[in-house]
Amino acid sequence: MNDLIVIGAGPAGITASVYAARKRMNCLIITGDIGGQTILSSDIENYTGYHFITGVELAQKFREHLEQFKLELKVGDKVNLVKHEDGIVQVRTEKGEYQAKTLIIASGRIPRKLGVEGEDEFKNRGVTYCATCDAPLFSEMDVAVVGGGNSALDATLQLMKIANKIYLVDVADRLRADPIMVEKAKGSNKVIIYNNAKVKQISGDKFVQGIKIERDGKEEDLTVGGIFIEIGSTPASEFVKDVAKNETGEIFVNCRCETNISGIFAAGDVTDVPAKQIIVACGEGAKASLSAFDYISRL
Ligand SMILES: Cc1cc2nc3c(=O)[nH]c(=O)nc-3n(C[C@H](O)[C@H](O)[C@H](O)COP(=O)(O)OP(=O)(O)OC[C@H]3O[C@@H](n4cnc5c(N)ncnc54)[C@H](O)[C@@H]3O)c2cc1C
Repeated sequence: MNDLIVIGAGPAGITASVYAARKRMNCLIITGDIGGQTILSSDIENYTGYHFITGVELAQKFREHLEQFKLELKVGDKVNLVKHEDGIVQVRTEKGEYQAKTLIIASGRIPRKLGVEGEDEFKNRGVTYCATCDAPLFSEMDVAVVGGGNSALDATLQLMKIANKIYLVDVADRLRADPIMVEKAKGSNKVIIYNNAKVKQISGDKFVQGIKIERDGKEEDLTVGGIFIEIGSTPASEFVKDVAKNETGEIFVNCRCETNISGIFAAGDVTDVPAKQIIVACGEGAKASLSAFDYISRL
């Protein structure tokens, strides 16, 4: 029986685990990866103490901090179900079943899919959701980026250094990303912006060869070797049915990171806390861990 199980090792889960270790809690971490969405960010300029750090570097620093402590870590596993019976939390994963007195859900967010023909078929064969991970694979190629927010523009700016031509395809009539990013993209002769445009289909042979878009009621084929889907994300909260969530699936928490179920806490991007940022997720992870410690102390 663990004192605490932490689901996720992004900024929230790692910070929660570090706090748990310092409180000498018997803590098990179950996670798909270490770093979470941090790995997807190319440039981070708003994490206190660092003027500039890449996401991969920050994730490495988080990992090193975590590894200073003796914590049980299950990386590469996926939680399928969380249940709460008689004051005990049961966590079922693809590889096993675990129990704890308390749980912190820090599972963050996962990329939203386009839902068009060819998306699943060509996933990892030209269809990607991570520019930071995959952009170098598209050197000198023509590619498409789908979306108009900060993630899409971040992907576009990265690709400007690598790809030949970038079609930025967005359903809205204007890009919603930070103006500084939009200005940089608009200033590049590599970037062609399609507003009011919708991707209808992704096609290819072994790899992506093109996309079909619809604009002003007309269909158009673009020849591209890759498509970066950057249309936002959804909270990774499906595995927990009983906790209260808002209409988008974000878990409701109070200022102590408590959910509606005693002993179950949540932190970071998976919650309804408004600012989805690394430093906020870290702070919430710390709070959740201290709340779990208080809860156990009162048992
Ligand atoms: C492209 C991009 C750029 C960004 N740039 C910045 C920036 O410059 N500055 C900034 O402050 N923020 C930035 N962000 C936001 C920031 O990355 C997030 O706010 C932060 O990572 C949230 O941390 P988290 O721990 O809550 O969740 P996440 O980072 O999403 O981590 C979730 C963790 O949970 C695990 N997980 C999920 N589901 C399961 C499951 N079922 N079973 C087991 N494990 C699971 C994942 O593997 C992962 O380890 C950026 C985000 C993106 C996508």
